[in-house]
Amino acid sequence: MKVLFVVWELDPFIKVGGLGDVAEALPQALQSLGVDIRIAIPFYKALKLKRCRKKLIKRFNLKYAEKVEEVEVYEVEHPLSKVPVYLLRNSKYLDTPVFPDTFAFFNKAIVSMLVANYLKWMPEIIHCNDLHTSLIPLLLKENKLPIKTMLTIHNLTYQGRTSLDILDKIGIAKSKCQIVHWEIESRKINFLLEGIAHADIITTVSPTYAKEILTEEYGAGLEEVLRAKEGRIFGVLNGIEDHKREARLLAKDAWEEEKKKNKLSLQKKLGLKVDASIPLFAFIGRFDPKQKGIDILHKMLRTIDLAGYEFIILGKGDSEWEERFQWLDTFFPKNVACAFVFNDRFAHRIYAASDFILIPSKFEPCGLIQMIAMSYGTLPIAHRTGGLIDSVKNGHNGFLFNNYSGETLRDAVEKAVHMWWHERGKYKEMVGNALSADWSWDRSAKEYLRLYEEVLKPI
Ligand code: ADP
Repeated sequence: MKVLFVVWELDPFIKVGGLGDVAEALPQALQSLGVDIRIAIPFYKALKLKRCRKKLIKRFNLKYAEKVEEVEVYEVEHPLSKVPVYLLRNSKYLDTPVFPDTFAFFNKAIVSMLVANYLKWMPEIIHCNDLHTSLIPLLLKENKLPIKTMLTIHNLTYQGRTSLDILDKIGIAKSKCQIVHWEIESRKINFLLEGIAHADIITTVSPTYAKEILTEEYGAGLEEVLRAKEGRIFGVLNGIEDHKREARLLAKDAWEEEKKKNKLSLQKKLGLKVDASIPLFAFIGRFDPKQKGIDILHKMLRTIDLAGYEFIILGKGDSEWEERFQWLDTFFPKNVACAFVFNDRFAHRIYAASDFILIPSKFEPCGLIQMIAMSYGTLPIAHRTGGLIDSVKNGHNGFLFNNYSGETLRDAVEKAVHMWWHERGKYKEMVGNALSADWSWDRSAKEYLRLYEEVLKPI
């Protein structure tokens, strides 16, 4: 089976967010299942090829915005997975990612390259990711290429709305597009919507989120379009990568001792009270008040009796919220420690040292925090939503709370601590369950492979 995985970021060449990790790990896992998978990304100026040798395989002309542009296609081997990667270079549009032209141009270049068979390799499926590659299914149809398409939505809230002029630039008639009614007047096109409407199969990053996005609450305005695709929308939970975890992993039989050591050293470093018998809770995540539940986290911290707990907050983002949390750190230095930086190593030290991790997200397409935490024997306390439901099993490997509020979060924290103190056997059993869960990409890849097979079935 031949699959072209098209994406706008790929670790370690270029990484902007979590999608860069997915683009590295998932194709690798699919390749080991026997899929002939290759990746295509724009060749940004900032791309770091390190020691990978690139080979120019084609130079061709592409018409875009009424002008002829030159595109160069290079091939490199991904340094970790050895998956072939095609890099598309054009100094006007692909040097730096600027919405919408970079992506419209990139999508058109991909399809044109396949139409002319420049790769001398023809995928049976193009696996598109997010709005940056969402025009590909439409362009394929326009060019009558018999390639199936899968669109994976990693984040439904980024949709890519822009003026309809972009269609003239790629040479597609407006009538071919699925413009939603409220956007006709504003004369806007929505990249993600086009992808949803034209792709053969849609996936998102957890089974629960795949259902939630059909509702008004989670559909981000696209619920009607998504509902029209019901039966063609699937959820596959992401995995986590082993090789990126800190060396100090918690061995299954020695986790208690190791966690204690990690905890004491982190308490000392952060100026908290150094005492293994105080329950240590952490929050790690983007400080995004719309998604990550920092409002209810703050409310909980304001109302709980802090004396019996320690909280470590690692986040970066909204500055007003950072200030509010800093206030708690300043007035309760022995119980609350905050750091407003992005620091991967520090995050892993926190995962390894904490007893519990708080994930109060209002919505969560998949969420990696809970999986990483569990692999360190740290029990998640999470809002019952999205991918958190698919990975945290209440009372088995963590805790889920129902209503999105500071009070319910506080109740969940108090309940967890009660168990930590008084039902030690149960707590240890739950940590054992968390440590033995399978979050490998291999598991996700098998599900993607099943969906690839599904999409290739004759109708
Ligand atoms: P999202 O992709 O919505 O930000 P996820 O739960 O999917 O949320 O992934 C978050 C990832 O980013 C995790 O690997 C987490 O460890 C990491 N992370 C988040 N904030 C920080 C931070 N301030 N420092 C280091 N790592 C962080």
